Amino acid sequence: MQTPLDTLQHIFGYPSFRGEQEAIIDTLVSGEDALVLMPTGGGKSLCYQIPSLVRPGVGVVISPLIALMQDQVNALNELGVRAGFLNSTLSMEQVRETEQALLNNELDLLYVAPERLLQSRTLDLLDSAPLALFAIDEAHCVAQWGHDFRADYLRLDVLHQRFPQVPRIALTATADVRTREEIVTRLALDEARQFVAGFDRPNIQYRIQQKDNPRRQLLQFLRAEHPNQAGIVYCLSRKKVEQTAEWLCREGFNALPYHAGLPAPLRATHQSRFLREEAVIMVATIAFGMGIDKPDVRFVAHLDLPKSIEAYYQETGRAGRDGEPATALLLYGLEDVVKLRQMMSSSDGAESFKRHEQQRLTAMLGLCEVTSCRRQVLLRYFADTLEEPCGNCDTCLSPPETWDASEPVRKALSCVYRTGQRFGANHLIDVLRGSSAEKILSLGHDRLSTYGIGRDLSAEEWRSIMRQLVAAGYLDVDPEGFGGLRLTEQCRPVLRGDQPVFLRRDIKVPTARPAARRAVEEIPEADMGLWQALRACRKRLADEHGVPPYVIFHDATLRAMLEQKPLEPRQMLAISGVGDSKLERFGADFLDVIREFEYTHS
Ligand code: ADP
Ligand code: ZN
Repeated sequence: MQTPLDTLQHIFGYPSFRGEQEAIIDTLVSGEDALVLMPTGGGKSLCYQIPSLVRPGVGVVISPLIALMQDQVNALNELGVRAGFLNSTLSMEQVRETEQALLNNELDLLYVAPERLLQSRTLDLLDSAPLALFAIDEAHCVAQWGHDFRADYLRLDVLHQRFPQVPRIALTATADVRTREEIVTRLALDEARQFVAGFDRPNIQYRIQQKDNPRRQLLQFLRAEHPNQAGIVYCLSRKKVEQTAEWLCREGFNALPYHAGLPAPLRATHQSRFLREEAVIMVATIAFGMGIDKPDVRFVAHLDLPKSIEAYYQETGRAGRDGEPATALLLYGLEDVVKLRQMMSSSDGAESFKRHEQQRLTAMLGLCEVTSCRRQVLLRYFADTLEEPCGNCDTCLSPPETWDASEPVRKALSCVYRTGQRFGANHLIDVLRGSSAEKILSLGHDRLSTYGIGRDLSAEEWRSIMRQLVAAGYLDVDPEGFGGLRLTEQCRPVLRGDQPVFLRRDIKVPTARPAARRAVEEIPEADMGLWQALRACRKRLADEHGVPPYVIFHDATLRAMLEQKPLEPRQMLAISGVGDSKLERFGADFLDVIREFEYTHS
């Protein structure tokens, strides 16, 4: 029997385990259950792939992500691992072949969709097959209040009842305690050892900016920091997704739309182009992304405010899974806050559900408005800690200024009160700034004591104040009205003058900040030719094998080749990401490229 470490080095080509991988793998190899919470990109797959290879029998992986199974299996095949899948995309003939391979003990890993697993045909089949383990991926899908809920997941406790001797591992990147508890109960994992990895993703640079001119802000970001790189741009609505994708194409980017309203074949094509081509920008609603394990997504940009920190963290987590620098940019403004608050209170969910949603939004707003390190706030939210400010988020890189806004805040709050707590921010600002617009005059708002008392600040500055007052809970949004703002209890001490209010000073024109670490590490000029040749070689092999380029080798592996310039197979094998199978299949091609450069250019 090969040890887990041998398997890691020879099959996967990595020199050592990361974090708790080894302990998790040992738990399963010894036949015990495990629950694994690890951030996206943490290396969850190896936690079940290696025990499946080390233990006799097949590892059965349950995943809701049918569209990705073919890619996952292809990637394993390139490593020389015998893998297959069962889901509704296969023909009867293909299903029979896979089932036969399973019974003949010719598979190390089998991916199945939950609905397929629960069919009695599949369960009967598993009764007769040698089983190494069950891996329940995306285990947060059992959480009924979560947005990825799948009813089939609730029935997965059948595994425990029917196959009590087979170890199980449940994995998720969703961090909150409530989800974790639900996984344990629903999947009968009380005995499982729990592994909760730190949630930090140090290579992701978090930035949250006020919306000023969002398109210009995005363009500047893409051109200055991520030209020719793959990334995801999230928008709230389908329409905005399509408009944004079209506009980016006109600006010369290779952008594709993705949302649940597009026909399934088109969605599949776009997803596959995102994975296979280089430098594609996916413009998407949150319908896109779960389970996308493209390692070289260099940025995630949000043009609308996510509903919760959980959602924000999961979506931004899709950047930089390969551990190389990546950026998460969020642009948000007052309209977002008002829109989301309204959507939530007008939905027809139970009151307790709505309250919970509102609380989650409030936490998200807190993150947006914070003046200290964003990463510390994020991690604290997930009950994780970071002792020192991170140095790799916008508030660390250029600390925002705060100012004593008590007086203007009192003016704003009185204005809300005097106008009857039913007008939106624009109207309130018009009153404060003494506008003589028709609406103001016809309502008689020019006769209010708060009319014109805020001429000293610009409309933009007032919007910033209003936004922060909503975010901090001094004002809330009337659920019935059209974005009307109302006072909350919290205003009393402020109106009485007992409590000062400090607000952050918005940076008016977002300047391109020099990132602490550039998102792309520069390739030295002298190596540029070899770098391009290595990438071309990778792309050619990827096309020949019908897989995305990163399945051949990750960027980090190519970079290591560039630095070490291996000329012999033995040296090639020492490179992280090159295992036995890949050396055999691709080693010669890459060695040829490197040798040619070394001999002709030196
Ligand atoms: P997750 O499923 O947790 O999001 P993956 O399993 O896809 O993460 O792993 C993320 C990336 O890290 C993958 O490209 C994987 O090959 C790489 N990786 C995982 N474990 C190791 C390791 N021990 N050494 C080097 N790279 C690793
Ligand atoms: Zn920071």
